[in-house]
Amino acid sequence: MEAKVFLVGAGPGDPGLLTLKAVEVIRHADSIVYDRLANHEILELARDDAELVDVGKRPDRHPVPQEEINRILAKKALEGKRVVRLKGGDPFVFGRGGEEALFLTKMGIPFEVIPGITSAIAVPAYAGIPVTHRNTSSALHIFTGHACAQRTEDIDWRIVAKLDGTLIFLMGLRKIDKIVENLLVYGKSPETPIAVIMEGTTLRQKTVCGRLSDIMEKVRSAAMKNPALIVVGDVVNLSKDLDWYEKGLNRAREREMSGKRILITGSLSEEDKDTGMRFLPQEVALLKNEGAEVIHCPVLKISPAYHDLEELLEKIECFDWLIFTSKNGVESFFAALGKKRFDARRLKNVRIAATGARTREMLEEHFLFPDVVPEEYTSLNLLEMLEQEKSVGNVAVVTSDIGGEELISGLRRAGFCARKVVAYKNEPNYEKRDRLVRELDRGIDIAIFTSPSTFRSIQVLAGESIEKIKSARIAAIGPTTKKAIEKEGFKVDIMPEEHTLEGIIREILKRGM
Ligand code: SAH
Repeated sequence: MEAKVFLVGAGPGDPGLLTLKAVEVIRHADSIVYDRLANHEILELARDDAELVDVGKRPDRHPVPQEEINRILAKKALEGKRVVRLKGGDPFVFGRGGEEALFLTKMGIPFEVIPGITSAIAVPAYAGIPVTHRNTSSALHIFTGHACAQRTEDIDWRIVAKLDGTLIFLMGLRKIDKIVENLLVYGKSPETPIAVIMEGTTLRQKTVCGRLSDIMEKVRSAAMKNPALIVVGDVVNLSKDLDWYEKGLNRAREREMSGKRILITGSLSEEDKDTGMRFLPQEVALLKNEGAEVIHCPVLKISPAYHDLEELLEKIECFDWLIFTSKNGVESFFAALGKKRFDARRLKNVRIAATGARTREMLEEHFLFPDVVPEEYTSLNLLEMLEQEKSVGNVAVVTSDIGGEELISGLRRAGFCARKVVAYKNEPNYEKRDRLVRELDRGIDIAIFTSPSTFRSIQVLAGESIEKIKSARIAAIGPTTKKAIEKEGFKVDIMPEEHTLEGIIREILKRGM
């Protein structure tokens, strides 16, 4: 792929408002240069080895100057990287995207612009304010509040105050007194409706509506904070009837899970990454509906390993059983079949077992319908079932570098000749360390572990912050994970009957906080 800079709009906050094209380039980027993003979840779409450069603030807490950002973009592109310059909202709406594009042109560096959903329109929409409305407002004007400090400079208030359309002020919260004063001085009626919306499209969105005459007081008593924007005009009145989003948030806030922070540590599987749109299973949406804040921080790096698999495939006719312990193992197995141009008909004499529901589903997606899957999904139950089958013989356990020990020793005790086939490696994902520590330090109410290795990784990555997990309720996917966590001196409070992530979430919702 050609080195290039993509100037990408990240939308106003809700990750669902990313464009498909933005998702695509974020997933393939070598380097992502971002600043004050409303939602860091978006960065989870990046490749694990992508370089993430925060130009929002330097160690001295001042923002990185524009010239330096330009230099960073150019340098990375000249190194041959695909660079994503990610900006809140739309890159060309008060985003300085134009300056960056001009600089890149001057340097002869190719770029593309991927427009984003601008906060100027989407945030009012989430507050139930259509920026234009038949018979109410037939024009839309977007201003920057930076230019509003003076009475006449930059913005000609005589003209602005006469405009009939909707006025939107970005970056205006700190200058709101000047904005209101100027509009009144130059002729807007004190009765003109005005709204201030903070952290729009996020779970923390808050809107204050009033009139030019009373908004200052209302903003002060509501402790409004940035990022916030201001909407002036009759369309503001529509929010009384159309306030769909905050109404939903408020309903959720009355619920038991309101504001609870739930940490999910498992990885997204490859096929979820492929669709790009599904961040986590649907059940996560149920948690969010109940008011919970879901923090997805994948602490494991999973990489396929082919050495053992290739050996296995060469001698596949010598094996009586293939046992798969996870969907990752199944994925690597089929990747290895492809790599070796292995004909599926050679699998006809080997019997197949899976330890869990997900593993079975993944096998079935490849048209292998396992002969044995225990009803309660654990290694030990599988062992019992195999013993009942009274079959002995050669077994290959397709698993991770650190998995399968219990199952393999059990199989050996039962008279099988069991062999471990390492199909993928599990390593702590060091790129996620900073974010993990930050999230743990902010406090966690429930921590979900979907394998012993996710717990081990979090121990490695979190350092002292692991103590924060002690005050959280811990959920483990099944008995093996539970045992591994308890061995480290942590108490497991939740273990679902169905050993899947969805099962855990349903159990949490059933029990409440
Ligand atoms: N390019 C961005 C705007 C950048 S200027 C866009 O198109 O949206 C930054 C200003 O945008 C903030 O000061 C605030 O006025 C507004 N803004 C951005 N995100 C916002 C949000 N989630 N809620 C309210 N205002 C927001």
